[in-house]
Amino acid sequence: MRDQDIVGAYLSRLHAEISANRDGEVATYIPELGRVDPDKFGICAVTIDGQVYCTGDWDSEVSIQSVSKPFMYGAALSEHGRERVLEHVGVEPTGEMFNAIVLDEATNRPFNPMVNAGAIATSELMTLDDRSDSTARMLDIMSRFAGRDLDIDTSVFRSEHDTGHRNRAIAYMMLNTAMIRRAPEDVLDLYFKQCAVLVNCRDLAVMAATLAAHGRNPMTGDRVIAPDNVRDVLSVMASCGMYDYAGQWGFDVGLPAKSGVSGLIGAVVPGQLGLAVFSPRLDAVGNSVRGMEVCRRFAEDFGLHSFSERTDLRSVIRREYRSGEIQSRNVRDGREIDIIRRDATEFAVLDLQGPLFFGAMERVARRVGALVSKGVREIALDFRRVALVDTGGLALFVRLVDALGGTGVTLHLAEVRYRDSLSGLVDLVTDDADGVLKIVDDVDGALADYENRVIAKAGLTQETQKLALSDHAVFEGLDAGEIAQLQSIAGTLSFAPGEVMLKAGDDAKAFLTVARGTASVTVPLGPERARRVASIGPGQAIGEMALLDGGKRSANIVADGPVLAYIFSVESIRALSDDSPRIMEKILGNMVLSLTHRLRRTNDELSAME
Ligand code: GLU
Repeated sequence: MRDQDIVGAYLSRLHAEISANRDGEVATYIPELGRVDPDKFGICAVTIDGQVYCTGDWDSEVSIQSVSKPFMYGAALSEHGRERVLEHVGVEPTGEMFNAIVLDEATNRPFNPMVNAGAIATSELMTLDDRSDSTARMLDIMSRFAGRDLDIDTSVFRSEHDTGHRNRAIAYMMLNTAMIRRAPEDVLDLYFKQCAVLVNCRDLAVMAATLAAHGRNPMTGDRVIAPDNVRDVLSVMASCGMYDYAGQWGFDVGLPAKSGVSGLIGAVVPGQLGLAVFSPRLDAVGNSVRGMEVCRRFAEDFGLHSFSERTDLRSVIRREYRSGEIQSRNVRDGREIDIIRRDATEFAVLDLQGPLFFGAMERVARRVGALVSKGVREIALDFRRVALVDTGGLALFVRLVDALGGTGVTLHLAEVRYRDSLSGLVDLVTDDADGVLKIVDDVDGALADYENRVIAKAGLTQETQKLALSDHAVFEGLDAGEIAQLQSIAGTLSFAPGEVMLKAGDDAKAFLTVARGTASVTVPLGPERARRVASIGPGQAIGEMALLDGGKRSANIVADGPVLAYIFSVESIRALSDDSPRIMEKILGNMVLSLTHRLRRTNDELSAME
């Protein structure tokens, strides 16, 4: 790969291509803004896990202007709650200019917090008795969004303070209708200062990324505002953020964004990243010409429009099978297998994949319903390949569990333990009064348990007697004399349920064969976690590889229930083989045979997954 920074390289190329565009005019109605270099052009993207991609004049500082509005709106929502804020400012897009002197006739409210009237009303909500306290709090909020200490450009502030009479008119008009009650000059002081906060593209991209991350700053980890407040902010950004162009913007680009007269645009791809562009030349509406082009291209090239197709729901159920078709890894004899094939018909497995939000969960719920109506009583849902269940998916799942209450149907939730993003599912078990849900380590364990119940129901009591040595797979083909020799060197061990029979990392100096009971092979995944990879039953050997390499144990073997096993030390088997070499030959031959079977089984499984 030539350039590993593929997003950075993409943004640089985009920057080079769009640099040629010199259309538009720099805003001069605030005199100080007219002094900027019109050719400045910076782009920065920040992901919700804090990866930063910057190019061009990304570090040029400029006053944030109207891009401060969504952040102050978020702060007001956080401070006063939605209801109180809605009394002071609506959420309706206007067809008017951003600085129009109009209020909603019925309510006297400004239309929305992205136009000046609404932003001034928001500023009033954030004004304190002392001007310097208001300023300090505003700077603190902006700085927390940006993840570094921001400051005010005093000459821009002065310039707007001395010339911003239109905004003064708006404030006095709102005082007239009692929409604001504080002294307009105090409110305007805060408003002009919030517009004069200096940011570069990186700052603004982090601020936008904080919104993308539902209010948590990806660089500092600071939770600046709550996810519900972010949702409200993004909603008004989506409908009102781009001046009179908001409708067309939503149509073309489809991302919540806010622009300002200094030439900044901040755009949010919720759940993914924040994007900031700075280029001072504006179109007739007041949006940065190059900034709009960057957002439009970026959204188009990567399908980021809110309504573009993103997921393929068809694949949420990756695989489905019934217990008769695929059996657990437990070792069974012929009679047991016959019973399973005949009777084990009421257990199904759904192997799920992808994020489970409402639409995907609806498919799962529908499939569960269909299986239940066909007589399936137990369904194992395999969440191994599910990265997350969102609140919508969870809400629907709760209804599914409710609907199954009293039907006697059980849902086994597999691979959900120790997974933070799936903890919502685990928590449901606490409220599951009807006992519909059962958390299981993995599908195989649930399936094996079901098979055991089916076998028991058919009247076959398993594992009651101790298996003779001659019935063990590794000793197949040995004659009575050879078995007797083995018997003489065999020890017997019994294990309690849950007891560790062999431990990963230990020296492999002996091997076991199971005479009664079953054991699980588990591979440790962390200090508390383990994955069950296989099950071993009567007649099977454990740790027999010791005969070949004598290395370290690679897995843990844990007794499922009471287990009785024979133990053979490698040394004694070797000594035996010195006199009767046929014993070792047969054992090794049987090991090769069993490895071949395991390999075949793995191959079959792999091709079943295709
Ligand atoms: N401070 C500017 C004003 O109120 C902000 C304008 C803007 O960026 O839209 O006029």
